[in-house]
Amino acid sequence: MSARKLDGSLVLRNANVLLGSGEFRECDVRIDGPVISAIGEGLGGGEERDVGGCYVLPGLIDLHTHGIGYQAVEVCDLSAYAEMEAARGATSVVPTMFAPLDEILRQLKRHRAETAELSRLKQVRGFRLESPYVANTGAGRRQDLEPISRETTDAILEAGGGHIRIWDISPELPRAPEEIRYLTGKGIVCSIAHTKATIEQSRAAVDAGAALVTHLFDVFELPEQTESGVIPAGLVDYLLTEDRVVCEIIPDGTHVSPILVEEAWRCKSPERIAMVTDSNLGAGLPPGRYTLARGLGEVIIRDVNDGVRLVDRGMGLAGSALTPLDGLRNLVRLFGKSLELASRVCSRTPARLLGLNAGEIAEGRDADLIVLDEQLHLLLTITRGAVVFRAESLKSTQTEVLACLPEQGKST
Ligand SMILES: [Zn+2]
Repeated sequence: MSARKLDGSLVLRNANVLLGSGEFRECDVRIDGPVISAIGEGLGGGEERDVGGCYVLPGLIDLHTHGIGYQAVEVCDLSAYAEMEAARGATSVVPTMFAPLDEILRQLKRHRAETAELSRLKQVRGFRLESPYVANTGAGRRQDLEPISRETTDAILEAGGGHIRIWDISPELPRAPEEIRYLTGKGIVCSIAHTKATIEQSRAAVDAGAALVTHLFDVFELPEQTESGVIPAGLVDYLLTEDRVVCEIIPDGTHVSPILVEEAWRCKSPERIAMVTDSNLGAGLPPGRYTLARGLGEVIIRDVNDGVRLVDRGMGLAGSALTPLDGLRNLVRLFGKSLELASRVCSRTPARLLGLNAGEIAEGRDADLIVLDEQLHLLLTITRGAVVFRAESLKSTQTEVLACLPEQGKST
């Protein structure tokens, strides 16, 4: 990939910086190697670039993504995947698999080998398994599911080589609490997913350590009203009021009605909501018809906010067509959130969930940054101090605004 590494220091001058406190401040940001070393006025040293008053925000973090552009996680070249994510504002992603067990094992090993244990891809923070431990397939297939067994768990852990970060589990499956406890003990975030579990089963999963909810509202059952005048509470209601879990939201306005997004927003603090794309192959591409890999059929994208739809399954949804940058923009334009709050659920909350030293702009944090203009066009993506994306407009205009960042050799 064509990432440029920054040796030494870089100072972004004249920036509108979103600070960790949540305030915007007109100042400079200095980067030394992979970290932010100073924030303030009149910083100097090393390369200095005037960003012309543009926003400097924490890089976007996507905890749940299956594909982007022409890449799908199970068949992709992860370098190309990461390059496209960078061009859409992501500085950290967790590629997510929904595939049969043997395919998962094979792809984990392949990705590890091709990326030298991810050391070549700074944006990829590990992998996520949406199958095999879910009770309902959603857009997936029955053959992707397996009963929970320690043997299967250990086989996946071994194939993942310490790079599994998130693991989806339906609480109603036999052995779910034991496996959640086991995985949580290994530092893996367990996520309640694709479920018809009772509130009691889900509370047991949270007690066992489950800390995340996979695309809240999507592939969750509503409770049945069995007696006139008696309104039952369902699993979604429990999760909305359970402070121990972070709830993912797909912010395209199609997967979840804007009214439900607002409901979640009012129940959970921004520390308990994480924007995810749940994107599929085709995200970031123009409307059109695209072919999925592994014989999974054709999909149609009509609009960025209309999802990726399976042609041979009644145009049913198969993930979203969002990129991380689309998600941030939607939170502002579709759901009316401030840029500061939008940034929190796109960066800080997911960073804290994964225990990353990222997600906010502060001294000592990873230099994972994006630069956006007033219209939220992406101008620059910096991951761990390396420029991994620069807008074409900047490359061609070569003005004083960020046009001449040093190109000091390609990353490996
Ligand atoms: Zn998914």
